[in-house]
Amino acid sequence: MKVLSVASEVFPLIKTGGLADVAGALPLALAPLGVEMRTLLPGYPQVMAKLGDMRVVAELPWLLGETAALLAASHAGLELYILDAPFFFDRPGGPYADASGLDHIDNWQRFAALSRIGAEIANGLDSDWSPDLVHVHDWQAALTPIYLKYSAAGGRVPSVITIHNIAFKGQYSSTIFPSLELPPDAFTVDGLEYYGDVGYLKGGLRTAWALTTVSPTYATEILQPEFGMGLEGLIAERVGDLTGIVNGIDDIVWNPEGDRHIPANYSSATLKRRAENRAALCARMGLTPGDGPIFCIVSRLTGQKGIDLVIEAIDFLVANGGSLAVLGSGDAVLEAALQAAVVRYPGRVSMVVGYDEPLSHLMQAGADAILIPSRFEPCGLTQLYGLRYGCIPIVGHTGGLADTIIDANGAAVAARVATGIEFTPVTLDGLLGALRRAFRLHADPKTWATMQKTAMKSDVSWSSSARQYANLYQHLLARVQVS
Ligand code: ADP
Repeated sequence: MKVLSVASEVFPLIKTGGLADVAGALPLALAPLGVEMRTLLPGYPQVMAKLGDMRVVAELPWLLGETAALLAASHAGLELYILDAPFFFDRPGGPYADASGLDHIDNWQRFAALSRIGAEIANGLDSDWSPDLVHVHDWQAALTPIYLKYSAAGGRVPSVITIHNIAFKGQYSSTIFPSLELPPDAFTVDGLEYYGDVGYLKGGLRTAWALTTVSPTYATEILQPEFGMGLEGLIAERVGDLTGIVNGIDDIVWNPEGDRHIPANYSSATLKRRAENRAALCARMGLTPGDGPIFCIVSRLTGQKGIDLVIEAIDFLVANGGSLAVLGSGDAVLEAALQAAVVRYPGRVSMVVGYDEPLSHLMQAGADAILIPSRFEPCGLTQLYGLRYGCIPIVGHTGGLADTIIDANGAAVAARVATGIEFTPVTLDGLLGALRRAFRLHADPKTWATMQKTAMKSDVSWSSSARQYANLYQHLLARVQVS
C-alpha cells in the first residue's frame, strides 16, 4: 500500500512540536506493516541544508503564481518529496513565523501551495510513484482533500486528516479565496466556507474521507464546545468517520538504554544512572536542590500548557523542598513571570529559554518528575518520554494525558500499576493537590521507585498505533474497491 503523508514539519528535519515527531516516526512504524509512506514537506532553508542528493521530480512553472519544483530525497530512513518553492519557503525564521515571532503574513498561500502539490501527487504528478491514499496533518495540509475533491479527477483517492491541535484552524478572510485557484463551489458549506471566512481545517474536516485525532479522549472532547473551537458541530456530523489513535514515540531517539544526548560518561538514562544525570542536570541548570524532588517543564510556554498555574504554584513548590527546571519559550508574559521566579529562588528555580533538543533529553533523564498541567492536550509526547525514562508525569486529566497515565491513587499504588499523577479540574488548587501528592510519594523512595519502574514498562511505542492507522487505510481502500 502506498501512502502520501503531507506535513508542514517532520522530525529530524524541522520541528516546532509534536506534529513533527509524529510525521517523522509514523512512516518508519508503518513500513513493517507493508505501508510504503512518502512524506511531502516544504523546502525550508533548514530542510534544504540537511538534505544531500535531491532528484527533480517535476518543474512547477506556476504554483499559485510562483515558480517551484518538486524534488525527491531520502533522509534518516524517510522517503521525502520536498516542495522547493523559494518564494514561499526560503526565508529566515521558523516554519510559521519570522525571527521576531510574527506569523508570516502569507501563510495562507504558503500552505495552500503545499496542499495543492499534495493533491497533484495523489493525482499522478510523479509518474514513478502514485499513492493509493493521502494522509494529511493539521490545517497546513488540510487543503489537500479540498484540492482533490475539486480536481478534474474528482477526489477518487481516499484521504485521512489528522488533527494534532484543533486550536490552530487556518482561518482567513474570504478575500483570499480567488487566489486559491479553486472553483466557486469550493466556497460553500460543503467546502471551505467557514462563517463567511475561508477555513482550511474546516474544509479538510468536511472533505477528507476519514478524520483522526491523536487520542481517544481528545476525540470525544472535541465534540464539546469547550474543546471544539467552533468546529464541534461539524465534527459531530462526522463522528462516525472519526477515530482517536494515541501517538507513540520514536524509541530509537528516546531510548534510555542508549541516548546520544546524555553526557558520554553517564551513557544512559536508566534508573541506575539517574543520580549522575540528576547531577548533570543541576550543573547545567545551576540548581542546588536539597533532597526534595526536581520538577521539570519542557514545553511551549502557553496558556494551553497551564504554565500560568505553575507560576502561581512556585512558592508552594519551593517552600515544600522542591526545585523547578524549565526549558521552553513562548508567551512573553509567562516567560517574564518565570524569570522573576528564577531571580526570587536562585538555585531552586532555573530556566533555559529556547529550543534545545539535547537538554530536553537531560531533563527527562535527570529530573524526578515532569509537570504537564495542560488545559487541553490532544496527545502530548513529553509525558510519554517521561514514562519511558522514569521521570514521573504530573498531568492534567485531559486528552492524551488521560489516556496514557495511570494515576497514583491508593488502589493503583497498592496494585503497583501507577505511572504518574493526574489531577482534575485543571486549576491552581488541582495542581497544588497533585504537588502535595507528589511530595508525599517522593518522600517514600520505595514507592517512588516502584512507580518509576512501572512507568518505564508502559508501552509507548508506535506498534499498536501504527497498526490502527494501517487498519484504517485498509478500510478506506476497501471502500474504493467496492465503489
Ligand atoms: P505540542 O505539540 O503541543 O507542543 P507535545 O508534547 O505533543 O506538545 O510535543 C512537544 C514536543 O516538542 C516534544 O517532543 C518536546 O520534547 C518538544 N519540545 C517542546 N519544547 C521544547 C524545547 N523548548 N526544547 C526542546 N524540545 C522541546
